[in-house]
Amino acid sequence: MAKLAIITGAGQGIGAGIAQRLAQDGYAIAVADINSKTGAQVAAQLQATGYPAKFYQVDVAHRNDVFDLVQQAVRDFGELAVYVNNAGVAFIDTFVDSDPAQVERLFDVNLKGTYWGIQAAAEQFKTQGHGGRIVNAASLASVEASALQSAYSASKFGIRGLTQAAAKELAADQITVNAYNPGVVRTPMRDAIDRKTAAIKHVTVPEQQAEVLTEIALGREAVPADVAEVVAWFASPAAGYITGQSLLVDGGMRFH
Ligand code: NAD
Repeated sequence: MAKLAIITGAGQGIGAGIAQRLAQDGYAIAVADINSKTGAQVAAQLQATGYPAKFYQVDVAHRNDVFDLVQQAVRDFGELAVYVNNAGVAFIDTFVDSDPAQVERLFDVNLKGTYWGIQAAAEQFKTQGHGGRIVNAASLASVEASALQSAYSASKFGIRGLTQAAAKELAADQITVNAYNPGVVRTPMRDAIDRKTAAIKHVTVPEQQAEVLTEIALGREAVPADVAEVVAWFASPAAGYITGQSLLVDGGMRFH
C-alpha cells in the first residue's frame, strides 16, 4: 500500500502542484480543501492518471475538521507519512483600513489551521511510532514583512515560530517539521494580490507585475512545481536530518 500524504489547500495553486509531485513520488494523496469543486477535480485528475487519491472537504480553521481529516485519510489509505499545512488565505489592504473580520479569518486559517494540522499529524505519527514529516507553508513574508499584508506577514512569521517550536518538541519522536517560503508564485492567490495591490497603488496590473519582477534575481516568477520540488525534498529520506528550518524558494529575492 502507498504511503499517505495529506495536503491541505490542494484544490489549486501550490497545493495542487504538491499533490501532483508527491503522487509521482509514490504517495497516496489526500487532497484536503475547503472548496469541494476544485478539490474533487484535483483528486479526480490524479486518479485518472492512475494515482491513489481522494478528496476531503475541510476547513482547517476548525480543529475538529482537521483531526477528522487525518483519521479518515488513515482509514482510507493506511499510515500517514507526510502532512503538508499548505492551506492559506491572503488579503491586501493598508494596516489601518484592514477589516477586522478579514484579519480574524486570516489568523484562524493561516495560524490556527497550521497549529491544528501540526497537532493532528503529530498525534497520528506518535500513535504509529516511527516518525513522520510535517511541512508548513510560510512565505518570503515570514522573513521580511510586506506592506499591505500586515496580518498575512504576521501569520507567516507565526508559522515559522510554530515550525521551530514543533521541531524542537517532536524531534524525540523522529518527526521533522520544516517550512517553505515561496516568493512570487503564479496562482489564483497571486492574481488576486496583484489586482488589489495595483488598485491601491494606482498602477496597472502589468506595471505592478513588472515592478515585482525586477526584484527576482533569476528573472521569472515561480510556478507551483518549483515549490513542490522543495516540499518533495523535505518529505524525502534525503532530508531526514533537517528539522525546524524554513527555506526561501524565491528565485533570489532576499539573501540572508
Ligand atoms: P491559492 O489561494 O491559490 O490556493 C489556496 C487553496 O487553499 C485554495 O484551494 C483554497 O480553497 C484553500 N483554502 C483556503 N482556505 C482554506 C481553509 N480554511 N481550509 C482548507 N482549504 C482552504 O494559494 P497559493 O498561492 O497556492 O498558496 C498556497 C500557500 O502558499 C498559502 O499558504 C500561501 O500563503 C503560501 N504562499 C503563496 C505565495 C504565492 O506567491 N502564491 C507566496 C508565499 C506563500
